[in-house]
Amino acid sequence: MSNNGNGNHVKVLVLGAGPAGLSAALYAARAELAPVVLTGMQLGGQAALTHTIENYPGFPEGVGGAQLGELFQKQAEHFGAKVEYDLANEVDFSQRPYMVKTDGGEYKADTVIISTGASPLHLEVPGEVELTGRGVSYCATCDGWFFKDKKVVIVGGGDSAFEEALFITRYASSVTLIHRRDEFRAGAILQKRANEHPKMKFILNTVVTEVLGSDKMEALRLKNVKTGEETIFEADGLFIFIGHKPNTEMFQGKLSMSNLGYIQVNDKMETNVPGVYAAGEAADPHFRQVITSAGMGAAAAIQATRFLEAEEG
Ligand SMILES: Cc1cc2nc3c(=O)[nH]c(=O)nc-3n(C[C@H](O)[C@H](O)[C@H](O)COP(=O)(O)OP(=O)(O)OC[C@H]3O[C@@H](n4cnc5c(N)ncnc54)[C@H](O)[C@@H]3O)c2cc1C
Repeated sequence: MSNNGNGNHVKVLVLGAGPAGLSAALYAARAELAPVVLTGMQLGGQAALTHTIENYPGFPEGVGGAQLGELFQKQAEHFGAKVEYDLANEVDFSQRPYMVKTDGGEYKADTVIISTGASPLHLEVPGEVELTGRGVSYCATCDGWFFKDKKVVIVGGGDSAFEEALFITRYASSVTLIHRRDEFRAGAILQKRANEHPKMKFILNTVVTEVLGSDKMEALRLKNVKTGEETIFEADGLFIFIGHKPNTEMFQGKLSMSNLGYIQVNDKMETNVPGVYAAGEAADPHFRQVITSAGMGAAAAIQATRFLEAEEG
């Protein structure tokens, strides 16, 4: 972790280095505000966890998630953004300059752009925590390779579940997608690809109630939500893609938030505290895409620039 936070007074402090944070940094850097970006634990954000992104414009063949994050970072740094490998853990928005405490020190900031994104939801069933990293995973790109010729289960019914399931078919001998409802939320193209894939199978109206195994995962206990019937399903891997929760605990009581924990912003990405903005999945329960998060980040930085310009008269 960096020690550069000690005593630093910056014009724009960006919390988070995903698509929203790095886009905000690009715009603030081009406005010559020398933004500092704190990366948290995941440089590139959630986008860096996925193998290929096919719906970010400008890449007709798709682009690697991690590669896109690196390109975002390089472009922001090219214009003067400083990326620090540091984690914010406390904020004080009661007076300006605002204070942000980090693992490496403390920052004073004239404006803060919060782009701390979101983290995967857990199933919260017995065995899940104990067997994470021993069969249970939330990242296909990171862990898919370990399941060569193995039997894998994916839980979820949205785009991420389908994208990641299709990715794991490269390695696994079979990929069974388990979903608690009888229809999926995933887009039509992804559903068609999955339906046509010879390695893919589907179990509907079913939930995982327990992950079984001692040293490593061996099976799942499943329950049919319609009939109540319980079965044991043998599998080597379980990948969970059932949604996300915003990484905003630190701002509880300091900013207006929805009851789901999303920071409330207006259409200029302004929070209820002047000079504090939020962008991307920390503030967006609706779209949750790379392009929308990047767009919100850019908007937040434009607004922060105008705010500072107005103050300087
Ligand atoms: C498996 C998967 C596949 C996906 N596929 C696609 C796709 O194909 N197309 C698409 O458009 N979208 C996709 N998405 C969604 C996309 O990745 C997200 O919408 C996007 O990354 C959100 O960007 P963000 O910048 O708001 O937050 P995030 O990407 O979540 O980034 C948050 C950043 O904040 C940092 N952070 C967190 N807490 C702190 C802290 N306390 N201090 C400092 N930093 C902190 C993190 O380290 C990270 O750098 C996918 C997501 C997943 C999980």
